[in-house]
Amino acid sequence: MTSHTARGFASLAVHAGQEPDGATGAVIPPVHFSTTYAQDGIGGLRGGYEYGRSGNPTRTALQAQLAAIEGGAHAFSFASGLAAEDTLLRAALAPGDEVLLGSDVYGGTYRLLARVLGPWGVRLRVVDMSDLDAVRAAVEAAPPQIVWVETPSNPLLRITDIAGLAEIGHAVGALVVVDNTFATPALQQPLALGADVVVHSTTKYLGGHSDVVGGALIVNDDALAEKIGFLQYAVGAVSGPLDAWLTTRGIKTLAVRMQRHSENAAAVAAFLEGHERVARVYYPGLSSHPGHALAARQMSGFGGIVSVALESGEAARRFAESTRLFTLAESLGGVESLVNYPDAMTHASVRGTEAAVPVEVVRLSVGIEDEADLLADVEQALAR
Ligand SMILES: *Cc1c(COP(=O)(O)O)cnc(C)c1O
Repeated sequence: MTSHTARGFASLAVHAGQEPDGATGAVIPPVHFSTTYAQDGIGGLRGGYEYGRSGNPTRTALQAQLAAIEGGAHAFSFASGLAAEDTLLRAALAPGDEVLLGSDVYGGTYRLLARVLGPWGVRLRVVDMSDLDAVRAAVEAAPPQIVWVETPSNPLLRITDIAGLAEIGHAVGALVVVDNTFATPALQQPLALGADVVVHSTTKYLGGHSDVVGGALIVNDDALAEKIGFLQYAVGAVSGPLDAWLTTRGIKTLAVRMQRHSENAAAVAAFLEGHERVARVYYPGLSSHPGHALAARQMSGFGGIVSVALESGEAARRFAESTRLFTLAESLGGVESLVNYPDAMTHASVRGTEAAVPVEVVRLSVGIEDEADLLADVEQALAR
């Protein structure tokens, strides 16, 4: 393996795990579809490859790329973000253990814990992770096994101090997990800030083109990596070869995409903040955002997600149904702009729970189109 330790982020994203093919010199390594591998005598494996669930060279290449861009020792890729989360939770928890979860995490994460792992004896408590005093009180009242945060959070873009959270979690021996889907490693590096595990839905910015579902875990600890690797193999929620390859291709342009997403989102947020129909804008790049100073320290850009509260639930629904360039759809992080009404779409499963999203809120995933076109679309939708 070539050492990449001295290289910058954009170079790692393009090159890590992507050495030209040894046999042909192909600059883009081929996609390996084979499910099985010829053995040179019984047990004589070439490069450790035996069967497609246990290992595949295209997946190995993606995992090397993921480890490099998050600055981790080990990376694992999965069929979806939730498959990655499920594997991590089963690797790290036993019945009776507890997860302390951020109050506005991805709805599916809450659902996985409450409705799938709950009946198997995993307990769940929810706290506003952006309030470290509240986190400390919750952790001291009863130490959890895992502290799980999304920062910026979904969809209210709350910012949590990852280094501060890691200190609080580690004081009671908890594993500190950061879902880095919104920021991506182009803007924020949780392992360097003290987190133990990074989780991704690669479906979003890493894939970046809304054409592949996937997930990933990145860790430094060898013992935890061994448990995750065993479950990846023994449970089998792995990425298929074409999915892995598409994700690798997406990651190569992550640095330039995140820069453009951030610029466009900042323009949309500033426009919304000055508009008479808007009650509140949630964007960590705005100086009015309560987490702005922390985000400026902890992140190298503010990302592409902007949430906005209008005057009523009715106004929010009307706005979400009135955009033309922003497509009304779930998900986020693709090159195209999307608009989502969380209460009835992405966060419908947490309605009425402590993780519910206010009915006035609309979430925008700002794409990489022309800024003027994005602003014109938001303006005409607000006028309706
Ligand atoms: C989408 C998403 C997930 C779940 O990922 P899937 O790929 O849809 O399974 C988890 N966390 C965040 C922040 C997400 O946006």
